[in-house]
Amino acid sequence: MNEELLKKIKIAGAKNFDAYAQKVLEASANHGTFGMEMVDMLHDQLPRTSCANCGKCCNSISMYSLEYHRVMREVMTRWKPERVLRLIKSLLRFDLRQAQVGSESRLRCVFRDDETKVCLVHPVRPFACRIFGLLKENGQRECDNVKDLSLPEQTVKEEYLINLQAKILENSESFEPFEGKGEIHFFPFEFWFFRYLFSPERALQIYREILVPLSTPLTKMWEKQEQLPDILPSDYES
Ligand code: SF4
Ligand code: SF4
Repeated sequence: MNEELLKKIKIAGAKNFDAYAQKVLEASANHGTFGMEMVDMLHDQLPRTSCANCGKCCNSISMYSLEYHRVMREVMTRWKPERVLRLIKSLLRFDLRQAQVGSESRLRCVFRDDETKVCLVHPVRPFACRIFGLLKENGQRECDNVKDLSLPEQTVKEEYLINLQAKILENSESFEPFEGKGEIHFFPFEFWFFRYLFSPERALQIYREILVPLSTPLTKMWEKQEQLPDILPSDYES
């Protein structure tokens, strides 16, 4: 991990808190309610579940740009400014957010409050959090503590999930983090945060030199990645 870059972004971030708040509001406003409604529709079409809320899976997850705006809109409209500033400060403390899951390194999700055991953005949490533990076609779940709230339990097919995301995919931003390895739409919250705080170029550098090395799943994904890792329009066009 690039420690020097990490130090620089902490200093620059501290100087830019007010500008960031303004930038993120403008960026969300540009999407209007259309994009936000699209995200809510996507989330509403998934089965509702409950779980033991142990928080083990609450490590930094990837999301679409529209989902980032949905989360930030919630935060900026409902939270007091001092709470937003606390969130930004804790986001920059990568040293405190590192977690070990078995033999793998992860970055804890900035929205998980481990003291009160809650997700601070639960009503607008991203797609990736919502599909974790859904009943798959092989009859299994990624977490055995997840239960469907409606009965009978609903099996979710991969094709169904791909189709659900089609509209979001068309309307979300994409970038190429590693030259020649293709563009992706799905980035950690932190990437989108820095994309609006600084610039897409700086956010991509932070993704490559800090976020990927901090996360074993992301490191592994890019090590073996020879082609586009994201869903392509051809995956859902008949
Ligand atoms: S889905 Fe499973 S691992 Fe994640 S918080 Fe719930 S019980 Fe814990
Ligand atoms: S957004 Fe909420 S549910 Fe998703 S990983 Fe973070 S704390 Fe967990």
